Amino acid sequence: MLQLICILGKNIVFMTAYNMLQIKGFLFFIFIQLNFLTAQQKFSKRQIQKIKIATIEAVDSRHKNTQVMIDKVFSFAELGFQEYESSAYLTGILEEAGFEVVKGISRIPTAWMARWSYGEGPTIALGSDVDCIPKASQYPGVAYHKPMVEGAPGHGEGHNSGIPVIVTAALTLQEQMKNNNLGGTLVVWPGVAEELVASKAWYVRDGYFDKIDMCIFTHVSSNLSVSYGQARGTGLISVEYTFEGEAAHSAGSPWRGRSALDAAELMNVGWNYKREHLHPLKRSHSIFTDAGDQPNVVPSKASIWFYLRDITYEGIMKMYNDANNIAEGAALMTDTKVSSKIVGTAWPRHFNKVIAETMYANIQTVGLPEWSEADQTLAKAVQQEVESKNINGLAVELSNLGKPLKYPRSGGSDDIGDISWTVPTVTLRFPSNIPGLQGHHWSNAIAMATPIAHKGGTAGAKVVATTVIDFLTQPALLKQAKDYFENVQSKETKYQPMISEKDPPPIYLNKGIMDQYRPALEKFYFDESKYDTYLEQLKIEYPTVK
Ligand SMILES: [Zn+2]
Repeated sequence: MLQLICILGKNIVFMTAYNMLQIKGFLFFIFIQLNFLTAQQKFSKRQIQKIKIATIEAVDSRHKNTQVMIDKVFSFAELGFQEYESSAYLTGILEEAGFEVVKGISRIPTAWMARWSYGEGPTIALGSDVDCIPKASQYPGVAYHKPMVEGAPGHGEGHNSGIPVIVTAALTLQEQMKNNNLGGTLVVWPGVAEELVASKAWYVRDGYFDKIDMCIFTHVSSNLSVSYGQARGTGLISVEYTFEGEAAHSAGSPWRGRSALDAAELMNVGWNYKREHLHPLKRSHSIFTDAGDQPNVVPSKASIWFYLRDITYEGIMKMYNDANNIAEGAALMTDTKVSSKIVGTAWPRHFNKVIAETMYANIQTVGLPEWSEADQTLAKAVQQEVESKNINGLAVELSNLGKPLKYPRSGGSDDIGDISWTVPTVTLRFPSNIPGLQGHHWSNAIAMATPIAHKGGTAGAKVVATTVIDFLTQPALLKQAKDYFENVQSKETKYQPMISEKDPPPIYLNKGIMDQYRPALEKFYFDESKYDTYLEQLKIEYPTVK
């Protein structure tokens, strides 16, 4: 009876309930109402297709809003842990749409989680990163180096497009869930400080993913793609070593000083000797974060910050152990003291086969955006400017479904790894950027507030939204995804956090840089009430090429 009622739709429920009221009393009426949204509805393939077509059209109708969000976040140009404007703007949109937003999660002021429920169903997390890159300030749409603010941060990774993709998908899904009576909960969240890999392991540690059934993450790319199994790239531990010695007059009484900088330099030298004996899949890099104040004072304090990367958790922890030993050795050699703190971690990523396969079918339906001649002209000019091997412009052929690698490949990391080992997860890569660029560079910012980013964002939102529709309409899919997660992915490898219960997120990072540049950047914030696009506000002819 209940099933029949659900299939017939809401109006019938009330009519039937009215009859029931007379026959079996008011309690039964309540029972039916409560169960109305909890009943597992069965949808035919045709019905699901119909909902997905409506979803794709609805995402298209939101293209203007997607464009504004992408342009707006681009203009904020905020580094990790300093995403105050971006967070206030994006949570404002979600709150207005009825999401319940919890701010400051994991004691990170710019982190948040936005939740919206409609009846009963799976809880699906939708996330993407939001921070930018130091010294990558760049005018969009201009095919050569032209900083908006010299030395300032900029979206030279393209994270400005990620949360807009997710927000567009989430707002579309709200409508579709109501229109089609699809029960479920949407949880939207930002990858704060992804460039520091310093938020997602904290979210996991603090339980924010405990009651999540699955996660769809998105990341900017130059094609529309998804993969499963161990992802290309590494995980990492980010550690800062601080040495303490004794100050002295560098000329008057150098023999009374013990240089902390000598220790930091020796640690770096020691690690570089170690490098010869590291497996080629490992990656490591360092910067000095404190190298003394001025030459005539023996530095009493110095710090060096390492990213230590490998393709397995065990490999990363071995590198960490080796680095600790080298730090101790450097301290012994210089009669200084050393301490260290973990400032970021990322597990190597592993993505879910069932979600990836489901998503890839939607990728094939959505396809790549139609690029204009102007888009291609810009892309080719940028590729030539940075001497890329790829000078073919924007992608016009879809990537294949990414299958587990025969041989692991090294490369970058993303702390979505920690979430991918906590709930079934995939990363959708969407085509908002130009192929063949070096990454973390001003050239990667050029496309990110142009029609390339806008069209790529709309394509990405379509894939996210239709994939969520699949999981809301077919409960068996989620069961299969969880089965893969538990019995294939986690069969031999068990997640263990690299941070302890006590490690705080390093929210002080980047504050000084943003304090320095924010006043100059504020003058460039996108004003969507006055201008249609950011290119229009900046008076940029699109494309501007040499
Ligand atoms: Zn990224």
